[in-house]
Amino acid sequence: MRKGLIFVVSAPSGAGKTSLCKQVVELLPGIRHSISYTTRTPRVNEIDGVDYHFVSEDIFVKMVERDGFVEWAIVHGNKYGTAEETLRRYEAEGIDVILDIDVQGAGQIRQKLNQGVYIFVLPPDPEELEKRLRGRGTEGNELIKARLLNAREEIGRIVNYDYIIVNDLFEDAVERLKSVIAAERCRRELILPQIKEDWGI
Ligand code: 5GP
Repeated sequence: MRKGLIFVVSAPSGAGKTSLCKQVVELLPGIRHSISYTTRTPRVNEIDGVDYHFVSEDIFVKMVERDGFVEWAIVHGNKYGTAEETLRRYEAEGIDVILDIDVQGAGQIRQKLNQGVYIFVLPPDPEELEKRLRGRGTEGNELIKARLLNAREEIGRIVNYDYIIVNDLFEDAVERLKSVIAAERCRRELILPQIKEDWGI
């Protein structure tokens, strides 16, 4: 059995990354969504343990102190982190995992693990991003402005990613993300050990 692959997906908030990742996890076998820990308060439609593990500042800091996170970052004033245990478990079980995390976290994973496939999801243009953020109706004007500013900074780090998916039409973006995952699963170095064993070469 091969080790599970890690797909790190980043995007400015409002690019549609979360829906994209959820859809792909639903459609493709053998891949799960890594559920992050956050100190942010849940939005109305969010469920604890499904969308995030919603925890207090106190619990989050304790997890940081005992090195429980493979990466963590402050995004828009809230703390978010990926539990090391989650990643290790999926990896050992041969299950691929999607990490829907910000550019800071993606950088930490790259440095620390030196593995993973890095995918950046981009809205078609700045106007569309603003429209989507306002349409979501979950943030006030000031927060939206902060997120737009932050988006420019995040896009500036796009060169650190292996793939770019422009989320123009949702269905097309889903197909592209599925294709990236399918291609990565066909990588020679991943499959060759098994082939060598099977064919005795
Ligand atoms: P939101 O609050 O809109 O769900 O997420 C805000 C940002 O935090 C998004 O860019 C999301 O990808 C990022 N994020 C979610 N979970 C994590 C995590 O575990 N680590 C890091 N570094 N960022 C995360």
